[in-house]
Amino acid sequence: MPHSTTADVYDLRIVVIGAGMGGLGTALAFAKKGFKNINVYETASNLGFVGAGIQMPPNVMRVLGRLGVAAEIEAEATNVQATSIRQGSTNEELAHVAMPDIREKYGFPHLTGHRSNLAGSLYNGCLKEPSIKFHFSTSLVNITSFSPKPTLVFKSRDQPQEFTVEADILLSADGIKSPTRSLLLRASHNLTQTEEEDTGQAAYRIMLHRSQLAPFPELISLLDSDTVVRWVGERRHIIAYPVSNHNIYNISTAHPDTNFASATSATYTTKGSKSQMLSVFETFCPLVQDMLNLVPDGEVCEWKLRIHKPLPTWVHGSVALVGDACHATLPHLSQGAAMAIEDGAVLAEVVSKIPADKINDQETVTKTLKVYELLRKPHCTALVDLATHSGRVLHLGEGKAKEERDKQFKENGKSGSVPDKWASPDVQKMIYANDCVKEAGERFGELFASL
Ligand SMILES: Cc1cc2nc3c(=O)[nH]c(=O)nc-3n(C[C@H](O)[C@H](O)[C@H](O)COP(=O)(O)OP(=O)(O)OC[C@H]3O[C@@H](n4cnc5c(N)ncnc54)[C@H](O)[C@@H]3O)c2cc1C
Repeated sequence: MPHSTTADVYDLRIVVIGAGMGGLGTALAFAKKGFKNINVYETASNLGFVGAGIQMPPNVMRVLGRLGVAAEIEAEATNVQATSIRQGSTNEELAHVAMPDIREKYGFPHLTGHRSNLAGSLYNGCLKEPSIKFHFSTSLVNITSFSPKPTLVFKSRDQPQEFTVEADILLSADGIKSPTRSLLLRASHNLTQTEEEDTGQAAYRIMLHRSQLAPFPELISLLDSDTVVRWVGERRHIIAYPVSNHNIYNISTAHPDTNFASATSATYTTKGSKSQMLSVFETFCPLVQDMLNLVPDGEVCEWKLRIHKPLPTWVHGSVALVGDACHATLPHLSQGAAMAIEDGAVLAEVVSKIPADKINDQETVTKTLKVYELLRKPHCTALVDLATHSGRVLHLGEGKAKEERDKQFKENGKSGSVPDKWASPDVQKMIYANDCVKEAGERFGELFASL
């Protein structure tokens, strides 16, 4: 296939793998920046929304605002005003951290919403951009060249033969199971497998509608509130918040991964058993029992929570990894999708800085992608570590460390630090005040020169 004869950075052929949060965010960020040729390939036949909620912190709302989709998201999301951390066994409040001034402090709100709200808004934004083309039911199966031009092999459900696509830059947001990550690390470091870190944790994800909660006034008042509630216990917790205009109560858990311990690494989700779920939380208070009992039989879904050790690189040739593919995280800091969307925005910013006369210069393209890695890797690694740490603290059993934690909880964040790190003012400042795109613009020259 001939090499591209592009004359302008915005003509670069950008291929995005995956139409999850990272892929949609990346495609939209490149389109908004003015790139004219963006192709998104996705294995699934459509967006395939997971029936679950998602927290959208101010750092991602800043990016989503620039992408023109914040208003649509905010219209049905919950604007979080407080978090209540409770002892799972008794429902006793360990901490009540008020956060009514998040928008005032950081310029953007902290929202909770339905995943379909976030993904649907990003997708609608993409559909308005003539430069973005979606190819659903189409999987990346191989990368035969990483440079100078990535050469990609796809298999589509609609045609019997595999086919090849040449790109100028490949951005792979293909998730925790990322095939690109395996291909890239084999090509760059001769690694035959990436090192997964065993989190030992799994999650149930549950959504309860207002009509289901109606017989329980206390649950209805939680649904009507602007509060995120976390019930904590030894080696397990539950987090819950309202989404979809306060019509759905979203519940997600973290608990010991007993069902997956012996499963093959290819198994990531499973239909869970309701009785098993109830037994995992049998020591929790009656309010939690009522809530979990509302889940219809056969509708319990369980996820294994997976992360990887930090990768030796996110970039090889003209290929870069995005989102969970390079920094999968435990959900305890509510930053996984936020980081993936930020990655795409940072990539669009740095790639747009390639001078017109260097767009076919391999060294310039690789160094530019490396600037993205330099900007993002230390930050994302720190957040992944913090999420793991927060989980450890939330899951403490009886003893001195737990007593100390609960003493800190009682300060309700007034000291500037809360053991539940997503609600901790010092951590919020570090994450929410960070304007990743501005930083990319400001530091590009210095970082590029350092390579
Ligand atoms: C219980 C739980 C709660 C969470 N809560 C939050 C939260 O509150 N806030 C937050 O910000 N994050 C949260 N996260 C994390 C967040 O969901 C992920 O970090 C985020 O979805 C990752 O996005 P991604 O685009 O990198 O990957 P994904 O969303 O997994 O998307 C990858 C896409 O690539 C496609 N794909 C894979 N292989 C191929 C291929 N070969 N060819 C083509 N397409 C392919 C897949 O089909 C998929 O659509 C949570 C996660 C969990 C498990």
